[in-house]
Amino acid sequence: MPVLVMKFGGTSVANIDRIHRAAKRVALEVAKGYDVIVVVSAMSGKTNELVGWVNETSPLYDAREYDAVVASGENVTAGLMALRLQEMDIPARSWQGWQVPVKTTSAHGSARIEDIPPDNINRKFAEGMRVAVVAGFQGISPEGRVTTLGRGGSDTTAVAFAAAFNAERCDIYTDVDGVYTTDPRICDKARKLDRIAFEEMLELASLGAKVLQTRSVELAMRYKVRLRVLSSFDEYSETAGTLVCDEEEIMESNVVAGVAFNRDEAKMTLTAVADRPGIAAAIFGPLSEAGVNVDMIVQNISEDGRTDMTFSLPVDQIKRAEKAVMQATGRGDYTFSDLVTDDAVAKVSVVGIGMRSHTGVAARMFKALSAERINIKVITTSEIKISVLIDRKYMELAVQALHDEFGLEKA
Ligand code: ADP
Ligand code: ASP
Ligand code: MG
Repeated sequence: MPVLVMKFGGTSVANIDRIHRAAKRVALEVAKGYDVIVVVSAMSGKTNELVGWVNETSPLYDAREYDAVVASGENVTAGLMALRLQEMDIPARSWQGWQVPVKTTSAHGSARIEDIPPDNINRKFAEGMRVAVVAGFQGISPEGRVTTLGRGGSDTTAVAFAAAFNAERCDIYTDVDGVYTTDPRICDKARKLDRIAFEEMLELASLGAKVLQTRSVELAMRYKVRLRVLSSFDEYSETAGTLVCDEEEIMESNVVAGVAFNRDEAKMTLTAVADRPGIAAAIFGPLSEAGVNVDMIVQNISEDGRTDMTFSLPVDQIKRAEKAVMQATGRGDYTFSDLVTDDAVAKVSVVGIGMRSHTGVAARMFKALSAERINIKVITTSEIKISVLIDRKYMELAVQALHDEFGLEKA
């Protein structure tokens, strides 16, 4: 029988009533003749609560135990969903990551899926089971420990199952009715897209649009998974939501497809470091070894052989970065005069494959921001995106200004 993957995010399984509603959606697909793999998130707010408990117990926690605690939210919803389906006379059972098994790397807290052998679940399908309810976000390491896939990781679980089981489609049910030109919670002119190209979705996700986890889009692109984002609250229809698909399947598109943002950024500047070969390696090597995710980098023009080096990083990695810098300078790797940290910046980006063939997008972006008197602190570009770092308090304003500038409310 054809296989369908249906993923329900936190708000779609937030309580018993919502689980019931989601189960009814699953029943519709079972009635059409699909064997269904349902991937569930934890109830909304649950993962945050679990992460909070870990931090309260042990600020410099053992990541293996973090995963043991944080993965548990999904176990609850998987069991409840299976029970609900059984109540509806649908043969179903729950599967935790290790039972499938979802084999991952041992990078606890952000493990990557390496393999999902389909045999165990397929055997159950052959015996008459119609729905496998899989706990999202979790797997098992080569050492036999529970792992998690990073925040938002249930999306990736869903796409990985769709690839492993050659599913006809992977439907991601969430609390918005599709992918928008920007987060509809920030910009009320945001428009739902019927289709978006994998590459654009990949950029939007990696630049902060949390509607899909970045890794899930990567996998969908690589394994040609038909990926759809839709609401678990609206009436269902075959054409609902947004299809994430190949560029060729999209008839026409704007130069800019969407605006993404990341609120929780920080900026660090090391002033008066020596401007010599190897200085960037001396600074960024230890930061990377300490697990700091450096994103944007600028080096100023040097004066008297000294230069300022500025970089951005996630705001919750400031302490870790400061420690790495101090250790490196303590070892004599390099010297600097001041370490200036700004913990109140945000990154705003415009994304679109149309940028490959249109010039002037950056100039329009900078002009629109300057018309709102928003100062740009750092800029980076790639083939299909332009990102700027600005003061966090202007983030919403910047998103709206860019949405207007590129006419995103109209198709
Ligand atoms: P789930 O719990 O279902 O996984 P998430 O909260 O992870 O849901 O993702 C859905 C949220 O993503 C939406 O509620 C919305 O606020 C946010 N979002 C950010 N950017 C976009 C976008 N471009 N289109 C749609 N939603 C977006
Ligand atoms: N529950 C996990 C999280 O909140 C995974 C997910 O929902 O995708 O990050
Ligand atoms: Mg999510």
